[in-house]
Amino acid sequence: DHPPPSFLSVFDQMPDSPNDIYRAVSRLWAPWLQEGALRTFQQGGFYSQVARPGLRIISLNTILYYGPNRVTQNSSDPAGQFTWLLRTLEDAERDREKVYVIAHVPVGFLPFTQNTTAMRREHNERLVAIFLRFSHVISGQFYGHTHRDTIMVLRDQTGAALNSAFVAPSVTPIRNVKEPSSNNPGFRVYLFQLDSYSVQDLWQFYLNLTEANIQQSAQWRLEYVMTEAYGLRNLSPGSLLGLGFSLIPPVSKAFQTYFAHFNVNFNPQLPCEGICKVNQVCAVLHVDQRGYQDCISAGWV
Ligand SMILES: [Zn+2]
Repeated sequence: DHPPPSFLSVFDQMPDSPNDIYRAVSRLWAPWLQEGALRTFQQGGFYSQVARPGLRIISLNTILYYGPNRVTQNSSDPAGQFTWLLRTLEDAERDREKVYVIAHVPVGFLPFTQNTTAMRREHNERLVAIFLRFSHVISGQFYGHTHRDTIMVLRDQTGAALNSAFVAPSVTPIRNVKEPSSNNPGFRVYLFQLDSYSVQDLWQFYLNLTEANIQQSAQWRLEYVMTEAYGLRNLSPGSLLGLGFSLIPPVSKAFQTYFAHFNVNFNPQLPCEGICKVNQVCAVLHVDQRGYQDCISAGWV
């Protein structure tokens, strides 16, 4: 989340070494995590485990790379997570597994402001480089943190889409001081293919908070099905890059839809033009510093 600096205390930090919090949570999760997963979790709050045949979950502690987490700010590899991630991806590649990466703070740039990565810039660059290198192993990346509904495409130097990231909106509403609007509560369900584990579709559900407050009851509804909302065949990186490009034209129905989804339909009439739209679109199309800078300078891609 995004607490203002005055709310941060030296105690409100995720350290890169064993501590009471990691130990307590690992005890809570002991029924579901295997021995090796519990061991790395106690060291740095991250773990990996096979979820079903051929599919490995890598749960990263990206808070270690989060700017306000000052206890790790001078470390190039907090808790050795980068080293561990590389080795885990190499093993997955060798064993012909597919990987889903899950984490709280996402890679890439915050879409509601300009030139601000969600995690520390240098850590973002390093993580993106690792994900690109192992894009043939990683079948999905799933994040939260921003409370907003966004997608991002990871591209190589030729601009080809190698991987993607989904940021799911949260159940809790929040508004950053730099944002004009909040979000409705939301949750989602993904459809994936059984052999490749590629993401096929997603169902986004939401609660109209204004209506719920008036009626004093919660009516959760389907907000959209992603392939239907944008006319996509599936949610492959290539399809999502196509969607990203379709957001660019000055008059883009896809962008209107995308931006209404961004706030989980909290305020579907809210306009996003000019710099607001450039920030949104560049955040979809580029997660690395260089590509993003070029996009912002060019006004688009
Ligand atoms: Zn957060």
